[in-house]
Amino acid sequence: MSLLDRHRAVMPGWMPLYYGDDALEIVSGSGRRVTDATGRSYLDFFGGVLTTMVGYDIAEISDAVRAQLATGVAHTSTLYLIRRQVELAEKIARVSGIPDARVFFTNSGTEANESALLFATNARRSNQILAIKNGYHGRTFATMAVTGHRGWSSSSLSPLTVHWLASADRLHGRMAGLSDSDLIDAAVDDLREVLATVTAGDVAGLIAEPIQGVGGIVHGPDGLLGAYRKVLAEHGILLIADEVQTGWGRTGEHFWGYQAHGVTPDLITFAKGIGNGFALGGVVGRAEIMNAVPALSFSTFGGNPISAAAGNAVLDYVLSHDLQGNAQRVGSLLLAGLRDLQYDILGEVRGRGLMIGVEFVRPGTSEPDPAATLRVFELCRTGGLLVGKGGLYGNVLRIGPPLTLTEDEAREGLAVLVDAIATADAESRIA
Ligand code: PMP
Repeated sequence: MSLLDRHRAVMPGWMPLYYGDDALEIVSGSGRRVTDATGRSYLDFFGGVLTTMVGYDIAEISDAVRAQLATGVAHTSTLYLIRRQVELAEKIARVSGIPDARVFFTNSGTEANESALLFATNARRSNQILAIKNGYHGRTFATMAVTGHRGWSSSSLSPLTVHWLASADRLHGRMAGLSDSDLIDAAVDDLREVLATVTAGDVAGLIAEPIQGVGGIVHGPDGLLGAYRKVLAEHGILLIADEVQTGWGRTGEHFWGYQAHGVTPDLITFAKGIGNGFALGGVVGRAEIMNAVPALSFSTFGGNPISAAAGNAVLDYVLSHDLQGNAQRVGSLLLAGLRDLQYDILGEVRGRGLMIGVEFVRPGTSEPDPAATLRVFELCRTGGLLVGKGGLYGNVLRIGPPLTLTEDEAREGLAVLVDAIATADAESRIA
């Protein structure tokens, strides 16, 4: 039996696998390239959903993890002091932008958001949360409850009472076609309207991705979160920035996505890239909120020595190699190359740094075309390039390579993308 058949026989049927019957098994990697079980090599423009932040087989990261393993202790317990964990917490507190910050480590982004929602609801003694349509925050009850995408929410049994804000989508829905300043005004009106329908003083927090990742790289104008914040502050409502995809320099211009908005969140959640493949997530937030949890909260593996060793090495690498600057430079090259393209199926190219979305539409309309998106996605793989897919309508190609991507690699990937888009565009006219 093939590995795919074995996977299907033993895993639940709803587990997504890219490339369907042609599912990919990656067996090794180096730099920005991975190799599959058949020996085929791919340039990786997705980093395993923006998880491999600094690339594959990076000596500094592997050595740090090996050094920890060499002690004979992968982990004992977070009930004992863990030097690497404390060091990493100090660094994250320092770069967070939050004065007097505290850090709590988890094993995933879901758990990080679950924890942040706990801290916020506890601090405000309210289970009411504002969330943004088309956002993705995780797969537990609370995080699914604030995930505004039917395809990713498997339960309506929410511990939270959630109130939805419109997503700053410039192509579809009520914000379509608005200028930046009109869009900010419309979003703030929407927030005020939503707050007028709830017991405003009683809302705990707003959770928002500075750029919606799974939702298809949807982001509002710079300053939007700051404009929200002015209204939230009138009611004492906390701001939770989900930086699971946007953190650590990914967006190029800034270290965190929230920094484009002239605002400092009360709580920031992180995961994915900071472990470069090792399971590590967490919350960094204001001490007053983080310290207020009334009972003990414990994670057996959150911030374990292996993950913490990886996290320290990753953060040091990002800072010492100016990967934020690289994301800015190489991301601009990619964005410019994609924006130059003229194809009828190309709806919009958007994003920041090395977090880019390419939206596909039916020619001459803004109607989503998931079939063309799937075609481009598969043609990219045939051409030796891994990319992601997403969006509320399944019509956005997602690009999020390791932040070490070189300009040559960007050009190489761009050429594959252009071929794939040209082919899908030509086919759409025949069809
Ligand atoms: N928040 C965001 C913005 C994410 O993109 C994801 C994962 N796609 C999560 C939270 C959940 O992270 P995890 O899968 O590590 O639980």
